[in-house]
Amino acid sequence: MQNFLSLNLLTIANVTSLGLALVAVVAYWRLLGRSKALSADLDKVARELSQAQTSDPVTGALTLAKFDAILEEACHRSDASGRPLAVIYLDLDHFRSANDAFGRIVGDLVLKQVAQRITEVIGAAPPLARLTGDEFALLVDGQLVDAKRVAKTFLAQLSKPFSVTTQQVRLTCSVGIAMYPDQGSRRNILEKAATATRTVKLQGGDGFAEYSQEAVDARRESAKLLHDLRGAVERKEFELFYQPKIDAHSLQITAVEALIRWRHPQLGMVSPNSFIALAERYGVIQEIGRWVIEEACRQAQIWRGQGLRMRIAVNISGHQLRQDDFAEHLASVLSSTQTLPSRFTCEITESIAMEDTTSTILAFDRLGELGVHVSIDDFGTGHSSLASLKRLPAQELKIDRAFVTDLGTSEHAQFIAQAIVSMAHTLKLRVVAEGVENRKQRDMLVAMGCDELQGYLFAKPMPASELSMRATTDRSDMPALFRPSIYSDTVPAQLK
Ligand code: C2E
Ligand code: CA
Ligand code: CA
Repeated sequence: MQNFLSLNLLTIANVTSLGLALVAVVAYWRLLGRSKALSADLDKVARELSQAQTSDPVTGALTLAKFDAILEEACHRSDASGRPLAVIYLDLDHFRSANDAFGRIVGDLVLKQVAQRITEVIGAAPPLARLTGDEFALLVDGQLVDAKRVAKTFLAQLSKPFSVTTQQVRLTCSVGIAMYPDQGSRRNILEKAATATRTVKLQGGDGFAEYSQEAVDARRESAKLLHDLRGAVERKEFELFYQPKIDAHSLQITAVEALIRWRHPQLGMVSPNSFIALAERYGVIQEIGRWVIEEACRQAQIWRGQGLRMRIAVNISGHQLRQDDFAEHLASVLSSTQTLPSRFTCEITESIAMEDTTSTILAFDRLGELGVHVSIDDFGTGHSSLASLKRLPAQELKIDRAFVTDLGTSEHAQFIAQAIVSMAHTLKLRVVAEGVENRKQRDMLVAMGCDELQGYLFAKPMPASELSMRATTDRSDMPALFRPSIYSDTVPAQLK
């Protein structure tokens, strides 16, 4: 009886309604109240059959088990022919939020359409598998260029909206490519394609990448750095260096910009370029950013005690700015260190400043109310309009270093720098040029009407103690700008 049943069910397995047929049979036998032993046998058969199932009921794509078998065969074929094989791994970006927003039923229908679109791109009956919720894999016979072309087409096709019932769902995806046999073995090639997908995800998704050992090593290094970064504030591993900003005409120091340094116990001095983005991505920036504000204000108080009067500037990350209690924390530190808000500059990059999100607009309003000085950093790289600049409570604009570097060699850079200065002055903003390294650049910037200059030509970022020493020691080899100008009051920026 048992054999008969298994045999018949296996025959049914060849037709697509296998699942339903099986459920019906199981339910029927249970309904009839047949023996428990028989019911257990049927459950076992059902389990075996479901494992033998080759396609995913939601999308019709292959199951992982079936895909594995096909991959195995394809690798053998590739070994025999010497023709490479591309494994493509596709992961939808933020699919969970689409599922949450539209519900599971719509989500499943979208997945079905995703599988259909992928199939349309690569033609009939591709070896496409659904691996888990929103992850797919497929094989492309051919070279890397072929796989890249396919990946690009996926990105284009999947970015078109999906219409499900009355809903329009928009998606992007991350695609990873691994080439067999060059980049992996039969056992790990799928995992390597998945690794390549993770590289894309970490860069924000909506793109494709091929597997690269360097990317894996870099990620491992980042993971280690992130591990060390947590708790680095508590272990007192950070230090602030300070770089002066110089008035272009009087050559007085108007301000110093605080630039963070990390004394890593093994790696030595680590540049902020290596860890700020990491700290931002993994939420460590809040703790670091708060420390920077506290430390810079503490130092400003000490300098005031020594009679030094320059304004202090701090780089503020977008993540920090968007924190609800950012302005509150800043206000409390300014007050406890008796720092006048107008003597404290928040340097905020143009890309963050131009964000039109409620939290950023609110944050700028609060900075305006607080009365701190606001500087738009790295200006010229974003897409600011006059109108959007006008609505910001900013007093200063820093021309991005790239334009200053290219001033001597590029007419384009000269044109941009001049346009920035003119536009900023129309808006009554002071213009700072950063990264000034030689006299030629300095002279051109002064001729263009820049108000302040900053760069290695004047002073490199230095520890607070060195700055104090330069300002207070009477040495003839010190640049004139440190004495006596640093004792004079900061020239207040021309406010709107
Ligand atoms: P940034 O705000 O644009 O700072 C200017 C960078 O250019 C600094 O690099 C500075 O040392 C460097 N620099 C200054 N003058 C010259 C010059 O004449 N030539 C050249 N080649 N470079 C010059 P640094 O200190 O490595 O900082 C890099 C970036 O890290 C900063 O760029 C800023 O975006 C970020 N950063 C630094 N400190 C902090 C911080 O406390 N908080 C946050 N959120 N970001 C920070
Ligand atoms: Ca800056
Ligand atoms: Ca900058």
